[in-house]
Amino acid sequence: MIKLEGIGVSPGIVRGEIFLLRNVISSIASYSIEKSQLPAEIERFKRALIVTENEIKKIQGKVKGEFKKEARIFDVHLLILKDKRMIREVIQRLREKRENVESAFAFVARRFIAAFSQIDVDYLRERKFDIEDVSKRVLRNLLGVQCENLSQLKGKAVVIAHNLSPSETAGMSRDKVVAFATDMGGRTSHTAIMARALEIPAVVGLKDITSRVQNGDFIIIDGGRGSAIINPDEETLERYKKEQGDLLVVRKELSTLKDLPCQTKDGRRIKLRSNIELPGEIMHIPSHGAEGIGLYRTEFFYLNRQDLPGEEEQYISYKTALEKTKPYPVIIRTLDIGGDKFASSFQVPTELNPFLGWRAIRFCLARTDIFKTQLRAILRASPFGNLKIMYPMISGIEELRKANLILEEAKAELETEKKDFDSNLEVGVMIETPSAAMTADILAREADFFSIGTNDLIQYSIAVDRINEKIAYLYEPAHPAILRLIKKVVESAHKEKIWVEMCGEMAAEPSFALLLLGLEIDALSMSPFAIPEIKKIIRQVTFWEAKEFAKKTLSFETTKEVTDYGRHFYQEKGLLNE
Ligand code: PEP
Ligand code: MG
Repeated sequence: MIKLEGIGVSPGIVRGEIFLLRNVISSIASYSIEKSQLPAEIERFKRALIVTENEIKKIQGKVKGEFKKEARIFDVHLLILKDKRMIREVIQRLREKRENVESAFAFVARRFIAAFSQIDVDYLRERKFDIEDVSKRVLRNLLGVQCENLSQLKGKAVVIAHNLSPSETAGMSRDKVVAFATDMGGRTSHTAIMARALEIPAVVGLKDITSRVQNGDFIIIDGGRGSAIINPDEETLERYKKEQGDLLVVRKELSTLKDLPCQTKDGRRIKLRSNIELPGEIMHIPSHGAEGIGLYRTEFFYLNRQDLPGEEEQYISYKTALEKTKPYPVIIRTLDIGGDKFASSFQVPTELNPFLGWRAIRFCLARTDIFKTQLRAILRASPFGNLKIMYPMISGIEELRKANLILEEAKAELETEKKDFDSNLEVGVMIETPSAAMTADILAREADFFSIGTNDLIQYSIAVDRINEKIAYLYEPAHPAILRLIKKVVESAHKEKIWVEMCGEMAAEPSFALLLLGLEIDALSMSPFAIPEIKKIIRQVTFWEAKEFAKKTLSFETTKEVTDYGRHFYQEKGLLNE
């Protein structure tokens, strides 16, 4: 039995067999071979190329009928596979270094991928993904590794991977992936957020779990505590079985709060709304008692596809969300592509600092064609319910004004076309950058509401990459700097008589519920399943108590003092579930 501790990002206890998703290119073992083994190694290489060619042709044949255009990509893959230079280099390295063919091939593949990454021309640079794809296939065939792709998952399993992209996670089916665990990642990475949305228990940042497990091993994932227990002994297994049962009882108990109002003992209301990552999630919202959608992330529309979503497609999706959520609001966030979310349909160049780069509103203000299509779809959907819109990553008032100009253009177009929209639509600003927080007083004069995106606000304020497990210990919502920024944002908003919600993951943390209530935030938006626990806490306290608690919390100098005081207070009041 091995117990590993990582970062619990999506709660729940699950047991199951492991499906190891290998990163074949970066984890190839290298060993020396005798001169006499050379012909056999070359023969193995040639055979792997033939098997791969047949494989690619077979897939091409399958997709050709329905997706003629997309099938052409496999012609490119076949060309890469037969590239004479690449083959020559592998054989040359085999002869010179006398190493196993997998290692020689992986070395050459990595070199080609790196070379393509440097190319200035977008179209050519994108080819590195194709080289990566083909190389993985060849390596799989050399190694005889059968399963490497999530779509090949046959039964239910716990997926273990070095890293998972948000789009890979978005493509997971709950029927097959019962939980996942990764070497890399942080609590607010979009992979983690997606896991919570899909309600798949997950632990990230385990550093080396992929090298500690094998396909078929048995594992327990405790997504609440952040533990992964490989091949547990009988006693541990029994303990977790009991805990799994207890957890179900707690969830059942919490579900009884669904229809009760979210208010303090002395009647202060705070709205609890839902974050939506995938359009399909809309169906699950009512069961958790959310008062609308506080953050409708629209990027996942654009992932896992080769084309762009058109106006009509988006319009239908937004309209459905509005109709299903009525009379509660749906706050649609305009496209926030970039950072750790990439769409295959955009030719976005690779950047050294993607989180500080061409992301969100910056991307939309440059690609006004894509932005306006989305705005038109949102506007057209607006008469069908209670719709609000917000812009991500606003860094100052100029960006808000520029975005609003495009919104006005979209409105004018629709007016000319005699298409209906809600002309009083509220337009909000996400406060995710320190510059926006520091100029909240200015922004509040021109925004209808604020939504504090703490996932980014924390990473930019403390200068800590939100997806890097090595520095995850620094990623602290309880840092006095963050608390001061939140206080300033709320005060600036209320001074201009606009409301503030928080839609970052901090809003879903029971340990911050009292503080946020005391800081007078008007609404909290979170993964639907987190709502009942937050509601339970708020219903057990008075607004006065929360305000006193916030005042005291803001007086501390260190994160530790903040968290110690909070824990002590919660324990004393019996606010914790455990
Ligand atoms: C945030 O940054 O807190 C937020 C809600 O946006 P995202 O997590 O999508 O970047
Ligand atoms: Mg953000």
